[in-house]
Amino acid sequence: MKLLFLAAAILATPALAQAPKPIPLVSLIRLDCGTGTIKDFNAFFSDSFDYKSGPREITDSCYLIRHANGNLLWDTGFPASLKGKSMDMGPLVARLDRTIVEQLATLGLRPTDVDIVGISHMHGDHVGQAKNFPAAKLVIGKRDLELSKGKDDAFGPWRKAGAKVETMDGADVDIFGDGRVVAMNLPGHTPGHMALLVRLASGPVLLSGDLYHSNEARAKRGIPPFNTSRAETLASIDRFERVARNLGAKVIIQHEPADIAKLPAFPAAAQ
Ligand SMILES: [Zn+2]
Repeated sequence: MKLLFLAAAILATPALAQAPKPIPLVSLIRLDCGTGTIKDFNAFFSDSFDYKSGPREITDSCYLIRHANGNLLWDTGFPASLKGKSMDMGPLVARLDRTIVEQLATLGLRPTDVDIVGISHMHGDHVGQAKNFPAAKLVIGKRDLELSKGKDDAFGPWRKAGAKVETMDGADVDIFGDGRVVAMNLPGHTPGHMALLVRLASGPVLLSGDLYHSNEARAKRGIPPFNTSRAETLASIDRFERVARNLGAKVIIQHEPADIAKLPAFPAAAQ
């Protein structure tokens, strides 16, 4: 009798009687942030003659990661001012068909719905539309933020007093504090370069940043001559591949056209 009473009391306790809190789900949507033609793929992307010389297409992709505790925009592509145009940028010709803000509108989101802008590294094809989200918190490698200070500073809004900035200084950044979305410290392409680990219910995904620019680079461990540190890049490749192997993660190389098909077509989300 006493036991029955105890059981009834436990069931009546709100915290225990309620269904367990659902685990926050994470989803991942690929955004189109431009395309480019590299005039000489081998000369631009290999310091050791790894590839065939001549032109080759790349994509410029960004990602929206939706988490129960906020929306993260990972990388921001070419600038919105490039829309409908093509621009010769020296080693590459860049194009942009649609802006991130337009793609967010298709999803029913406003720019202010982006809570966090995460930047894999400071290069122009990753920072172009950051300024369109000045109210968001910026997450970026500390050295990359320092090095990009100057005339064409993409991060002006975050250099003002009171701006929300979290810099990665040698240790990974757990974006939402639950291990589901982690910006990984993988220096070498630039001093503060990061890749993103997203742990979806369907399995983990690794967004490469520019640790690699193509599947061929991954297979051959090709390293661009403009990387800030060859040795750091090789160490970062070692860590990235260990994580990919140990977690069984799906690797998405952000500039690889063949990897677009690894995620559902926009506006669908991987979950
Ligand atoms: Zn890039």
